[in-house]
Amino acid sequence: MRQTLIAGNWKMNLTVSETEEFFKNFKFRKKENVELLLCPPFTDIPITRFFLERTSVKWGAQDVYPSPKGAFTGEISPSMLKDLGCTYVICGHSERRQILGESDEFVGKKVQAVLKEGLTPILCVGETLEEREAEKTEKRISEEIGAAFSLLKKEEIEKIVIAYEPIWAIGSGRAATAEDAEKISFFIRHTVKEAAGKKAAESVRILYGGSVNADNIADFLKEKDIDGGLIGGASLKPESFLAIYKNA
Ligand code: PEP
Repeated sequence: MRQTLIAGNWKMNLTVSETEEFFKNFKFRKKENVELLLCPPFTDIPITRFFLERTSVKWGAQDVYPSPKGAFTGEISPSMLKDLGCTYVICGHSERRQILGESDEFVGKKVQAVLKEGLTPILCVGETLEEREAEKTEKRISEEIGAAFSLLKKEEIEKIVIAYEPIWAIGSGRAATAEDAEKISFFIRHTVKEAAGKKAAESVRILYGGSVNADNIADFLKEKDIDGGLIGGASLKPESFLAIYKNA
């Protein structure tokens, strides 16, 4: 039985003092069957840890550099994140792929490095509007997943989380339909099965991301292959994020 995961990605938002404000209003009733996760910017991780360490809510990072240490100015290693109590790391968000030019191979190395440190990668995959209109969604997702899986053992694949985030749906207020998101999530699960077998296909959690809110989360979670949501904009306010959690 896969546990539902509701993950917030703050992107480059909220200063440390704004994060303190956020947590002053972060009050919720725990749900046994839903895991809650926040991925703030690196600078907010220590204060996030301070507020969350005695709760059931987990915290993670939005990115990582795939080397244990060394001359990589400005970068953060998996062990640095582990030392801050992070348990999840988002890898290959489309903003990093598109704005910072991260390749499928580089993202694959991140996934591998995160697993090596005993953390859980959330591998983001998804198509642009042009790829969708050219019916290349499955091809694009196969490339993204294939580059990561080529570096992983079957036992490692079992542990990852995959977030299906159609790029045209991110921050646009135009979410995919639950049916479309399920179709691609089914395809992703099938791809996992082909690469790593039935056990992996049954254990890998697949999230949908792209304009998720409190009104549409339940529709996505009704689908057989969708195990949670990756939430950007609506995770920035405690009320909207917790409303999603409540409806999940
Ligand atoms: C995201 O950035 O991963 C995301 C899904 O953003 P939003 O929820 O704002 O569409």
